[in-house]
Amino acid sequence: MSGLLFVISAPSGGGKSTIASAVRQRVEGLGYSISHTTRKPRGHESDGVDYHFVDEKTFTKMIDQGAFVEWAKVYDNLYGTSASGLKDLTASGLDIVLDVDIQGGRNIKDHFPNSVLIFLIPPSLEVLELRLRERGTDDETVIRARMETAADDIRNCGWYDYIIINDRLEKAIREAQSIIISERCRTERQLPGVKGLFDIP
Ligand code: ADP
Ligand code: 5GP
Repeated sequence: MSGLLFVISAPSGGGKSTIASAVRQRVEGLGYSISHTTRKPRGHESDGVDYHFVDEKTFTKMIDQGAFVEWAKVYDNLYGTSASGLKDLTASGLDIVLDVDIQGGRNIKDHFPNSVLIFLIPPSLEVLELRLRERGTDDETVIRARMETAADDIRNCGWYDYIIINDRLEKAIREAQSIIISERCRTERQLPGVKGLFDIP
């Protein structure tokens, strides 16, 4: 993998889509990996933009063909990151932002140890629930299921590289931007280019 992989995880409603989309608009050279899912599109979501929406048969076939770098069952639906999608993005010289759940984060870290994992935490479970309700995309059963998983996810996020508390949105977006920019400046990532520029063996 030539580009950097940035994984953003959070409990549902934690702000992944909002923050990933803002960061992509503000930071150059970032591509977004569009996952496959068996979940039905919500509200304004469209196929090939938010997700590749597929049926279970297609998803299972893709698993059998080894098409996914990682996949997981999350809240009764299947979600996966396709290897070809990642390859196309890195081939165009982009660093990649992935929005995956905590199981996906673990699999990505195992596959790509240099990936950078960021976990978003809501200021409280009450605020998280309010945001989920105000988003208006999920019914009561779905919200209950997501709130049940939220506390567990937060308890288990200790191995992520970075934690951002998503209280004020603008602050959280800036923190995500700062992480991406700082990671790009790490010596081990800059040194090959510097050596080329200054003819250092
Ligand atoms: P996720 O992609 O993690 O499920 P979203 O990005 O859809 O979460 O965010 C859930 C809802 O919370 C959205 O309606 C979004 O506009 C809102 N939201 C996200 N971050 C904040 C924030 N810091 N302050 C207020 N509302 C927020
Ligand atoms: P949602 O249905 O709210 O869009 O996403 C539900 C959960 O699935 C979120 O935690 C999101 O990060 C996760 N998710 C989305 N795409 C993928 C993926 O490709 N792989 C994994 N493991 N999780 C994903």
